[in-house]
Amino acid sequence: MAEILDGKKVAAHLSEEIKNAVEESINHGITPTVAFVRVGDLEDSISYENAAVKKFQKLGIETKQFHFPEDISEQEFLDKFKEINWDFSIHGILLLQPLPKHINITRAAQLMRSFKDIDGLTVMNLGKVLTNADDRLEPCTPAAVMEFFDYYNLDLKGKNVTVVGASAVVGKPLSLLMMNRDATVTTCNLYTDDLVDKCKNADVIVSAAGAVDLIRKEHVKPGAVVIDVGINFNEEGKLVGDVAYDEVKEVAGYITPVPGGVGAITTTKLAEHLIKAIEHQKQAILFIEDKF
Ligand code: NAD
Repeated sequence: MAEILDGKKVAAHLSEEIKNAVEESINHGITPTVAFVRVGDLEDSISYENAAVKKFQKLGIETKQFHFPEDISEQEFLDKFKEINWDFSIHGILLLQPLPKHINITRAAQLMRSFKDIDGLTVMNLGKVLTNADDRLEPCTPAAVMEFFDYYNLDLKGKNVTVVGASAVVGKPLSLLMMNRDATVTTCNLYTDDLVDKCKNADVIVSAAGAVDLIRKEHVKPGAVVIDVGINFNEEGKLVGDVAYDEVKEVAGYITPVPGGVGAITTTKLAEHLIKAIEHQKQAILFIEDKF
């Protein structure tokens, strides 16, 4: 029977450290401030934003919310987004996705200053994930996955890892973060031939596909670590992940539940990135003062 990797416990531990860092920053005259930028009124984006705002406020972080109508033109949005980026009272920005089809996410991301990019959206931060740079701000979902390995002291060096899902926000950056820990990584996608074969010898399986019951007990090597990133609703309308939890927990060594797993940590990672972002901004100011 697998040990349950408890996302709420991990988030609570991280939150204590963040609260102290926020307090210290306020004592030094900087109130950590984050901007939420949303275009349109998609229900999922609204509930994600509301949950994140609540979390940030609990940690003592100031939040500013910028909402734009669904039919705002791309140019008008990009102009407003530029202004938010140049607002020095804002230390971190979360651009809620998806954007409406007529607004190009790459164009918007390019305008974002990389040291305010708390969800690792910019090419600069993704490049820093690739090169394993210390000052990277990685996307918060892969960062949340990595947190389990740190909190529960699970070594990745030399381990075989299979990541199911290869999106730019989860699967691909996660594969790189795992490679940075000297794991041997196989990254699968919808067209991967014989998924059981790619998973059954893995010491670690992370599923980020968005498919109910995709990972069954035949995918899992006895004792493996199984991390479920998926967020789906099954036929009964119940929130579930990608992993057939009840059968897989009988085989795996460690498993994350849904809910209460990866999703419980992501907004806390955003807050942690905000603290890191403020440090980078302070360093940049010190650098400029030193030069001029
Ligand atoms: P996406 O749709 O952009 O990418 C899905 C990836 O999975 C693609 O590479 C696709 O090829 C692959 N895939 C889909 N079905 C597959 C299958 N049957 N076999 C193998 N590969 C398959 O999705 P995303 O944004 O990367 O999100 C993935 C999942 O993670 C979704 O369920 C999403 O809701 C969830 N998610 C959870 C959190 C969290 O905080 N827990 C955060 C972000 C995303």
